[in-house]
Amino acid sequence: MRELFKKSRAARVAVLLGAGLLAGGGAAYLYFHDPVVYPIPCAIHLLTGLYCPGCGAGRACFALLHGEFREAFSYNPLMVILIPFICLYVAARGLDWAVTGGNHVDGKISVKLLVAILILILIYGIVRNIPALPFSLLAPGGMREIVKGA
Ligand SMILES: [Zn+2]
Repeated sequence: MRELFKKSRAARVAVLLGAGLLAGGGAAYLYFHDPVVYPIPCAIHLLTGLYCPGCGAGRACFALLHGEFREAFSYNPLMVILIPFICLYVAARGLDWAVTGGNHVDGKISVKLLVAILILILIYGIVRNIPALPFSLLAPGGMREIVKGA
């Protein structure tokens, strides 16, 4: 299988299109299924009662899909900030692999930047659980009243 993908650009493009269809199907599903009504459970929150860095991401994506940027920001501000970069990376990496069969993207990204982002995500996951202002604003929906009034 690996040899097939190494040799055949058509096979790589087919995989990329399949992944795109899968992502589009997931987005379509999310568009029609509000996570407030159909919650996507978080194992960390279920087990510990604490918010992980991803808590609120489903509701934020739902809001983004409906063009409600401020609502999305209220559910998971860090994810809303990072998602354009994540999408750009996934698109660049996927297109590079489909066209060249190689990986010319990862080497251009600074390891220090990735470590800094990882540390930021970990700190974010901790501080959004502190039940005092301004940290409680980072909890899922913590800013809802503020952004609704804006
Ligand atoms: Zn979570």
